[in-house]
Amino acid sequence: MTDIKDWVLASANKGKIRELQDMLGGLGINIIPQQDLGIEDAEETGLTFVENAILKARHAAEKSGLPAIADDSGLEVDYLKGAPGIYSARFSGKGATDQSNLDKLMSEMQGVPANRRYARYQTVIAIMAHATDPTPIICQGTWEGEITFEEKGTEGFGYDPVFKPADTDCHAAELEKSVKNTISHRGKAINQLLEKLKHKTL
Ligand code: IMP
Repeated sequence: MTDIKDWVLASANKGKIRELQDMLGGLGINIIPQQDLGIEDAEETGLTFVENAILKARHAAEKSGLPAIADDSGLEVDYLKGAPGIYSARFSGKGATDQSNLDKLMSEMQGVPANRRYARYQTVIAIMAHATDPTPIICQGTWEGEITFEEKGTEGFGYDPVFKPADTDCHAAELEKSVKNTISHRGKAINQLLEKLKHKTL
């Protein structure tokens, strides 16, 4: 019988929890959202994805005593000089929702021609065996694409209805979950993670 290992996930984002559980479940890893353990979100004070991923993982490992996984991800839009970037989840300010963030993005992209709408999702995943782990596993994934003129699709989360990946003929929110998980920024980072986990005991 496979040994099931508990890992705490430093996120309450339902979309991410679902995607990570789907991708790591096969390895005998049970993802427990930190919220279920009464752990509050860490303050995201970093200025880069990697800093934020590490500080979130360290906080979750410290509070739970479990190995921790955290990701920090976001959308980089070239026309907006890389915004919303590390601020993607809170782009539209306090109380931001996926829809309010997406609405703000569409209003800032209004009138921008097709050839200036290049964008990409970025993610950094950090795994810490414990809170003082000096060698966290760090994985990074990028998914190139562009911002569309209209919303389409109901799958995924976040900016997916207005993101058209360069390697698909449809919006990210029209992709079946299993397809998105294979080709997305997070899918790519998880693939690296699976490789790196072969060399580290948690
Ligand atoms: P984080 O929780 O601070 O990493 O913020 C991630 C934010 O980036 C999410 O709330 C979304 O707005 C955006 N984002 C990251 N990955 C995706 C994705 O796969 N689809 C859509 N939006 C994403």
